[in-house]
Amino acid sequence: MKTYERLLSYVKILTPSNEDSTTSPSSHCQFDLARILVDELKNLGISDVSLDEHCYVYAHIPASEGLDSCKTLGFIAHMDTVSDFCDHPVTPVITENYDGGELPLGTSGRILSPEMFPHLSSLKGRTLITSDGTTILGADDKAGIAEIITALERIFTEKIPHGPLAIAFTPDEEIGMGPAHFDVGKFGADYAYTLDGDTEGEIQYENFNACSAKVIFQGVNVHPAPPKIPWSTRLLLPWSLIPCCQLLIRHGTLRTMRDFSICVL
Ligand SMILES: [Zn+2]
Repeated sequence: MKTYERLLSYVKILTPSNEDSTTSPSSHCQFDLARILVDELKNLGISDVSLDEHCYVYAHIPASEGLDSCKTLGFIAHMDTVSDFCDHPVTPVITENYDGGELPLGTSGRILSPEMFPHLSSLKGRTLITSDGTTILGADDKAGIAEIITALERIFTEKIPHGPLAIAFTPDEEIGMGPAHFDVGKFGADYAYTLDGDTEGEIQYENFNACSAKVIFQGVNVHPAPPKIPWSTRLLLPWSLIPCCQLLIRHGTLRTMRDFSICVL
């Protein structure tokens, strides 16, 4: 099966994560895709495949003969999508030989235009897969899953020699909870790639973390009528966070002060 055929089948299974949820996975529908992927991996002949209660799929493929001493290489993709704009089933649209101009999304009246997305014109002549404009497509990150499974299929059918391989499909990446129950030991890779990219051929070596922290300072409320001293006292503690943030920026944890905001209620 070709990669895009797998993508077309995966996007029809809705798997939005839910940032308001307190469970893991945040939405039960992610199991619908996870179970299909488990079956697909087993059908490829992989015996070590598992799905845990938090909806993490793991698979391990032993090395080809004579390559056991190689490091274990891991491949990861996430099964959930954003929750916006996916309240009904996805209808993918295939546009062959794209002309490089405005691209209508089905009959929705919406378009993708090179004016808005300048890289579109570089795709002239290619085959594009989009949604019909009434939902997201969900290629993030079902394209990554399709690439990993298709690569495994090719490795097996073409008998390509390889070292030990570890595969993981994870839930809840879009809400920053992908690593929450990820079992690093069970995954067992020495090095791993996440296939969740952007432009074709691009490799990113920086990490992204969507976690956030909320710090609540409890104090005594004051009426705005009193003079400035009670006000400034009240603000001192939150402002003391600023040097911490500057420290985080120096160490690369925060990129800019824009990643940090103080809201005094
Ligand atoms: Zn993604």
